[in-house]
Amino acid sequence: MSSNTNKEEKKCEKCKGEGWYQYSGFNGGTPHSTICDECCTHDKGFWELKEYYGKNNDKMCCLNGCGFIREKTKDDIAIPQSVEKIEQ
Ligand SMILES: [Zn+2]
Ligand SMILES: [Zn+2]
Repeated sequence: MSSNTNKEEKKCEKCKGEGWYQYSGFNGGTPHSTICDECCTHDKGFWELKEYYGKNNDKMCCLNGCGFIREKTKDDIAIPQSVEKIEQ
């Protein structure tokens, strides 16, 4: 007799598999919830950090808001970012 109850799904330690978690604000302020960067698929793409992000300038940040930051790649640079102006 064998049963297949041996499901070993690895749950994320950070969010316990919820996909988001809470962290307490500074100075005991209101707790905030944030998307878990461990589980986030970063499927919405990335936006470029510019000017105001110190050492993270020129890096790419996840649009889902999980806080994941990665280096800019060649592909990112290839994305046309200019808004075409209609000149008369
Ligand atoms: Zn997680
Ligand atoms: Zn993400």
